Amino acid sequence: METIRIYDTKPYDTTFSARVVLAVPAKTAGALNVILDRTLFFPEEGGQTPDRGQLSGREVLDVQIDRANVITHTIALLPDESAKAAIADLTSQTEVTGIIDWSYRYSNMQNHSGEHILSGLLHSLYGYENVGFRLSDNTVTLDTSGILSDEQILDLEQRANDVIYRNVAITCAYPTEEVLKTLDYRSKKELSGAIRIVTIEGVDVCACCAPHVARTGEIGIIKITGVVRSKDSTRLFLVCGRRALADYEAKQEQLLAISHLTNLPQEDTAEGVERLLGDITRLRENLRAAKERYVDARLSAIQSAAAADASIPRREDGTPDLSQRSVWVFEAAMDNLTQRRFMNALCDLGYLYAGVFAGNDTDGWKYLIGSRGGNANLPNGILKERFQARGGGKPEMVQGSVAAAQADIETALAAVQ
Ligand SMILES: [Zn+2]
Repeated sequence: METIRIYDTKPYDTTFSARVVLAVPAKTAGALNVILDRTLFFPEEGGQTPDRGQLSGREVLDVQIDRANVITHTIALLPDESAKAAIADLTSQTEVTGIIDWSYRYSNMQNHSGEHILSGLLHSLYGYENVGFRLSDNTVTLDTSGILSDEQILDLEQRANDVIYRNVAITCAYPTEEVLKTLDYRSKKELSGAIRIVTIEGVDVCACCAPHVARTGEIGIIKITGVVRSKDSTRLFLVCGRRALADYEAKQEQLLAISHLTNLPQEDTAEGVERLLGDITRLRENLRAAKERYVDARLSAIQSAAAADASIPRREDGTPDLSQRSVWVFEAAMDNLTQRRFMNALCDLGYLYAGVFAGNDTDGWKYLIGSRGGNANLPNGILKERFQARGGGKPEMVQGSVAAAQADIETALAAVQ
């Protein structure tokens, strides 16, 4: 038998009494499925989450409606209560009491009613339909069957809020079939049985079964907070009423934090952040140039030392012949790109092996070893054998990490000449 929907005629009621028709264990452990002869709990329907609250002192976890309009409440058992005891308790009572979470319900009523205003305006202004509505705990979205420009969305938002300021009545009725035939109303699906028509005078006429606020003024505000356009539709993210206030509060908090961080008035934060990002780009560029100059200076020092080292044989042009020599460089901190550039530049000087180690004795070293003409796996093998280094690569270049002291690494690699 169809469940009597009290929310249909009394959307502002918060408590009700009802007779238990059926109470059985739910599929979920620790829960029961309960069918009542009447209910104030709006089920999950039309993209909207179900009401919350309590039934006979037990938390209502879910509310579902089937094709025969029978509404099932899934309720949690009390602590240490068995399903059998709960069923016995519920069925022994002539009537049980239900209380809905009013704050949750009222927020849904505000957001749902706000959606009617937007859908009605989209219909009358552009001939677009509402092709999807979702009212969840986190998000309210409305999909419309056409593309809207930013200007159109702003205009829509202002018109919707004008409807709120006018405080228009929102009425619900079950017109006769004859009257229905004369009505031009929005409907998402083919409906059968008694059709409930929700009217916002001059704004929207729509077939709908959910609870709404009595007058548009109660919606408080409609704010469109996001837009996603696809090929032939537009998804609007919106917030109404208390949700809009919560959204404003959250955004105000963010803006205040940015204002404090940038030391700028709230109205200038975007400009301030843009300036900071510009500063970061310039600093990055300066840092990159400084790193290049540092590597160049180190290279030039290494070159001078080699030129002054009488033990190094000379090429025909008098420059040092480094083809049988290795160079090991240790740096406190160096990013990977600079380290690689440094190693390549050392190889270009003509060394057989050139290794650049970045780090320190305590935390270990990340190394890159390159070779022109040799096999970089050879020094890498020594580091692995002596210090259990981790690394590998090709004969031209290996990379790895080693936990050992600089002096010990230098001693171990001295053999590679
Ligand atoms: Zn509705």
